[in-house]
Amino acid sequence: MAGELMGDEMLDVAIIGAGVGGIAAAAMLRRLDGQRFEVFEKGHTVGGTWRDNTYPGCACDVPSHLYSLSFAQNPDWSRSYPAQPEIESYLERTTDSLDLRRSITFGVELEAIQWDGNGSHWVLVFTDGSQRNARSVIMATGPLSRPSMPEIDGLDSFAGTMFHSARWNHDHDLTGDRVAVIGTGASAVQFVPEIAPITAHLTVFQRSAPWVLPRDDRPAPSWRRSLYARIPALQRLHRWRVYLRQELLSVAFVGRGSSAQRIAQRIKDEVRSHIAASISDPAEQERLVPTYEPGCKRLLIANKWYPTLARADVDLCTEKILSITPRGVLTGDGVEHEVDTIILGTGFAASDFPGPIRIEGLGGVDLAERWSSGAATHLGIAVDGFPNLYFLAGPNTGLGHNSIIFMIEAQLHYVRGALLDLRRRGVRATSVSPNAVSEFYDGVQRRLAHTVWTTGCSSWYRSAGGQVDTLWPGTTIEYWWRTRRFRPSLFAPSGPDSGRGASAR
Ligand code: NAP
Repeated sequence: MAGELMGDEMLDVAIIGAGVGGIAAAAMLRRLDGQRFEVFEKGHTVGGTWRDNTYPGCACDVPSHLYSLSFAQNPDWSRSYPAQPEIESYLERTTDSLDLRRSITFGVELEAIQWDGNGSHWVLVFTDGSQRNARSVIMATGPLSRPSMPEIDGLDSFAGTMFHSARWNHDHDLTGDRVAVIGTGASAVQFVPEIAPITAHLTVFQRSAPWVLPRDDRPAPSWRRSLYARIPALQRLHRWRVYLRQELLSVAFVGRGSSAQRIAQRIKDEVRSHIAASISDPAEQERLVPTYEPGCKRLLIANKWYPTLARADVDLCTEKILSITPRGVLTGDGVEHEVDTIILGTGFAASDFPGPIRIEGLGGVDLAERWSSGAATHLGIAVDGFPNLYFLAGPNTGLGHNSIIFMIEAQLHYVRGALLDLRRRGVRATSVSPNAVSEFYDGVQRRLAHTVWTTGCSSWYRSAGGQVDTLWPGTTIEYWWRTRRFRPSLFAPSGPDSGRGASAR
């Protein structure tokens, strides 16, 4: 009976998280006969980052015809870059149309998973003290689930209202407020233009300028929507067109040759003219031009960012923030910017692998310790010494140029192969070989050294140790090719725990 929660019975697969990855994993398992699986979700609805990020203007910067599940296409997207509510409701609808909701337990937060070597299964330990057993675990917790709070002195001393963009306080009316926004990343460029018209005054604190390209966002005419509904092949054709256009961008990121330089120069020229179209003061223009290569931090797309910064009631502050005071923000030039509200657009703890869930593998080895000097995996999916454990959107599979859902589906194809391989071999557990892991990790790190991401900017792509553990250094076509067939020869049966633990790395 696939997908039913069966009391305390051993699950074949536990999926952690009901965001895009968790929904896609559940859909894959529903199609795989005879798997008892359950999704465990700490929130009360599906959607992950698309449920949590409700800030004004929130939208995806990958067109939705591409940023959607290949097996659950939506002909009805209202525009090229629909807003968050439309994406969230797509995920809700997909969950229902694939009949996945009955396989999700909501409101349960995982504290740890521990490999039981004798029983060859994972023990899931929840924060309320309850436990479940599962033969395999798919971690679909997503890289953008934990807001990153900036380390600024006095953050707790602020007497006004303060919140993070990923936990927007909709009960607080910003009308007539003096507002400080800290951060100029992907979230801020979306919400700042939306709130500027209602605030009394807005100060944007920029530590480093982003490259912001225009966004070609158009409404989808109703005739096209009904055409896509009637002839799905036409929509698939459009999806491929968008995919290939996005894929071309990878040339600028993963290469250093003349084509990469040409694309980078085109981006620089376009952004400069985008800035000049809104800001006339040359000194002000210069403050908005990044000092690092395009793509080193995520390229942003927005039409209203520069026009908003040109408003008389919006200030751009590039002074270093010294501290937060009870009244506002104190900057290096000695100015205390008095405000009523501070909004932190400071991003996510995306490079902090494996996140807050403690993962103990063979011999009780803690994955966080194991990864402290580099999140080494096989294809971002599996780690030696951690049998039957699979990551979605895991280390070194993030993208700067294309849809992460494409990567997740490729990973699930590989995981499906691993699950079928367990069945075929008639064993309870397999673990990837240490060689496969070091070969993959060393390979991606070598290649990353020649990409734009290691050209000298600091970004959330880099871990505390300076290495890039977040991104895939190639095209998504290459990743698809490398995951198209599960490779049983790289996995060995994992018997009862010998207590030796995983190899040190
Ligand atoms: P982000 O891109 O990481 O930007 C964080 C911003 O906060 C940066 O400007 C950063 O400055 C600044 N910052 C952080 N700590 C600071 C401090 N102590 N003092 C001053 N400034 C500080 O975060 P985000 O905008 O939330 O986006 C994160 C990721 O979410 C994106 O890259 C993207 O993958 C995803 N996202 C996607 C979309 C989408 O449309 N698909 C929308 C929103 C978010 P520095 O640059 O100097 O570090």
